[in-house]
Amino acid sequence: MTTVSARPLDVAAIRRDFPILSTEVNGRPLVYLDSAATSQKPRQVIDALTDFYSTSCANVHRSVHHLAERATNKFEGARARVARFVNVATPEQIIWTRGTTESINLVANAWGDRNLAAGDVVLLTEMDHHANLVPWHLLAKRRGVKLQFVPVLDDGKLDLEFAHARLADDGPDRPKLFAFTAKSNVLGTENPVADLCRRAHAAGIVTVVDGAQSLPHGPVDVAALGCDFLAFSAHKALGPMGVGCLVVGRPALYERMDPWQGGGEMIRRVRLEDSTYADPPLRFEAGTPSAADAIAFAAALDYLEALDPVAIHEHEVRLTALALDLLRPMGLRILGTDDPAQRAGIVAFDVPDVHPHDVATLLDGRGIAVRAGHHCAQPLMRRFGVQATTRASFYLYNTEDEVRALAEGLAAAMEYFRR
Ligand code: PLP
Repeated sequence: MTTVSARPLDVAAIRRDFPILSTEVNGRPLVYLDSAATSQKPRQVIDALTDFYSTSCANVHRSVHHLAERATNKFEGARARVARFVNVATPEQIIWTRGTTESINLVANAWGDRNLAAGDVVLLTEMDHHANLVPWHLLAKRRGVKLQFVPVLDDGKLDLEFAHARLADDGPDRPKLFAFTAKSNVLGTENPVADLCRRAHAAGIVTVVDGAQSLPHGPVDVAALGCDFLAFSAHKALGPMGVGCLVVGRPALYERMDPWQGGGEMIRRVRLEDSTYADPPLRFEAGTPSAADAIAFAAALDYLEALDPVAIHEHEVRLTALALDLLRPMGLRILGTDDPAQRAGIVAFDVPDVHPHDVATLLDGRGIAVRAGHHCAQPLMRRFGVQATTRASFYLYNTEDEVRALAEGLAAAMEYFRR
């Protein structure tokens, strides 16, 4: 992300687009600080959903009637919209899935089962979400592949020396695949994706990037990153739940992928005994897709792209810096780097001797929504010697006043538990 100063976001105008942000919780104005779990949705996205079901509802790719054509055109238009947002040459490089989790499972099954054998090494990291660990555990059970992990340092960054050495290894333990998150959902750490992909490719290693926490903050340039696969979910980036994408960085990768789910939509011809398959990407989209959600996701990307990504970043850095300034003197243990620019939008912390669920419940009493738990990153929790943390995550619609409300709420919660 560049650091050129941008015209600040008009947060007041943005907030007017999000109906839920003017509601109350427990008699207080909602302070929504859980966007890393799921973002709120602007009216434009809600309208796109309503519009589909009011004017265009039909199954896609099946019938020739007017509505079916309209639904199909909108659905395929949404695919092309995503392709532009992530800068790939053709819409055929976008596979619709249910989200990041399904996208990574797709790679592990469709690419992994075909190309990996017993003893092959899959390199992951200690900071990965369960969505980028468990599919590889399952593959290890099916295929006998070996899993290795890039450690996380005390400051919340990846041990890049270790990663570089593993990616340069040309011995028998050379990884065949490197799957890693672009941005940690717990530490906020932004990993050097382009450099890691460049090193991996120099050694012929296939890369899978979990973009769940990076795509919400502005266009992701797959061509510039040079990754083979990019996985993300719409719902963290202003879009609906239940839809996401797997971006296939190079169409040639399709030649080494087998279908992983069977059914309607993904076939060319079916006989009782066997079947042949449609061309990609439909080959990987069995069954009726979440068409309305995909179309509304395109509206979310329009919304996101109309904003300056540098301004979004600077806004999130400002909120994160303020949160760190206010929370640090309170005696909390904050996980991750001190540099707000390298963890924009995410602050996870441990309140000594108080369970995160209790912290979150007291904050909820003040209308403040934060996440408490292991954040689907149990190995990372273990790495930092905690069972769970409280996490505040900031997005383009949050304000400095909301960060102050968090600090006041936390101070009150800590006082309550001291008594
Ligand atoms: N990866 C990361 C880094 C995440 O933060 C999340 C969600 O929290 C996921 C993967 C899984 O996303 P989904 O549940 O939308 O599939």
